[in-house]
Amino acid sequence: MSIPGRPAPDAAPATGTPAGPRAHLLTNGTAEQYRRVLAEGIDRVSARIARTDRPFTGVTPAALEPTVAAVDLDRPLADPAAALDELEDVYLRDAVYFHHPRYLAHLNCPVVIPALLGEAVLTAVNSSLDTWDQSAGGTLIERRLIDWTAQRIGLGPAADGVFTSGGTQSNLQALLLAREEACARTATPRRDLLPRLRVVASGAGHFSVQKAATLLGLDADAVIALPTDATRRMCPDALRAELARCHADGLTVMAVVATAGTTDFGSIDPLDAIADRCAAAGVRLHVDAAYGCGLLVSPTRRHLLAGIERADSVTVDYHKSFFQPVSSSALLVRDGEALRHATYHADYLNPAPRPTGEQLPNQVDKSLQTTRRFDALKLWLTLRMMGPDAVGSLFDEVIDRADGAWRLLAGDPRFEVVTRSALSTVVFRYLPTGPADALADDANRYARRALAASGAAVVAGTKVDGRQYLKFTLLNPETTLDDVAHVVDLIAEHAGRYVHERATAGIPCPVG
Ligand SMILES: *Cc1c(COP(=O)(O)O)cnc(C)c1O
Repeated sequence: MSIPGRPAPDAAPATGTPAGPRAHLLTNGTAEQYRRVLAEGIDRVSARIARTDRPFTGVTPAALEPTVAAVDLDRPLADPAAALDELEDVYLRDAVYFHHPRYLAHLNCPVVIPALLGEAVLTAVNSSLDTWDQSAGGTLIERRLIDWTAQRIGLGPAADGVFTSGGTQSNLQALLLAREEACARTATPRRDLLPRLRVVASGAGHFSVQKAATLLGLDADAVIALPTDATRRMCPDALRAELARCHADGLTVMAVVATAGTTDFGSIDPLDAIADRCAAAGVRLHVDAAYGCGLLVSPTRRHLLAGIERADSVTVDYHKSFFQPVSSSALLVRDGEALRHATYHADYLNPAPRPTGEQLPNQVDKSLQTTRRFDALKLWLTLRMMGPDAVGSLFDEVIDRADGAWRLLAGDPRFEVVTRSALSTVVFRYLPTGPADALADDANRYARRALAASGAAVVAGTKVDGRQYLKFTLLNPETTLDDVAHVVDLIAEHAGRYVHERATAGIPCPVG
């Protein structure tokens, strides 16, 4: 059968390249144009990546803003080359490059090439993972990867999950499920229960837990932050006491959130002991493994996650320790049925199943998102081209390097280090001679800014017990101990100069 005005289905594809606006649509007729334009973009980026000699140029917002503001968005450029030239000025030249060995700041990883191949494929095909009829094989690939991850965790045969935009969304969804499970388990009316719901986490847990509690309509003080021990881990005894106190006060703990890899300290809460306390009190356990999930594929350190298999839900961020591009993340749950709390039906999209009808696999039934990227493809190609051990050994390498960095700093009298990380962070501060905490705060703040302004290295800052510290987050296996030692010396130089100048000439350098 043929439709008037259309070529028959088996006719040769059109060869003429369309002109005008349609030249920009990716269609049969522009496939070659697509290949050419993308190749040009890849050439630029690969040249830029290859000649990056520092992680950052040190550009300030004030210096860059006029360049971006000067672009006339209503007057397009003639060709991709011109657009890419302009992009050099507004973005590429001054971007922060995580692949550079002296980028040591946040939980950003250099990305693996198989994942970039996945990214290129998934954006061109542009599947949307909400319903089977918008993705087909993409749905099955995502489901395989969810099953694979759940199996690595050890969540059991009823496990399920879904890819998310990041750890923040995974934690939000985990707490949504916890809230709904808590409501489902009691006869207390929801409006009476909500103000009495509590979430127990540690003080070193992620702020997204607090944000999720607010979004879920919980009380302002619903998240109870337990003090941590000297290694920045949750104390199981403090947890037991807090669970008992909540019970005695008529409060309902809807979830305990344990962290497998705290953002600052890389500390892993004692999961088995925490699972024991949760089981004894009949409380749901969520494990935030946004950072520590890379251990799931570590050839040498999987045991550090022992107990994670007892969680009711787990957050994993492949875009942190699996070397995946942003975004790639998932929420896993022990009991797949719990995901029903995220299920809403629309007649046009995912109609409620008829009693007898066969239900299509619609991932929107499990997700907080509707239209959703096929991020799973990046992990799929990573596993198919590298395999899990190769990913895990990259993570192992950076953990080893962080331990070397910790030892280096612990043996350096100019610095003070906080707890030794189980993962790949090092929290430390420059210590001027003499007991001057306020001066130390300013000197460390100054050193961090001066370092970033020079572009020689990028490190993070954080507070420990109210004082200013610096932080390395190592996620690049290319970072050597020599790189670390070099950056440590630069920090000591900047901080030392600050202390010296302040002593000799008043306050020389404004520190914001
Ligand atoms: C990064 C992080 C998150 C948030 O993840 P995003 O992907 O940035 O949204 C949550 N928990 C922990 C422990 C993290 O390190």
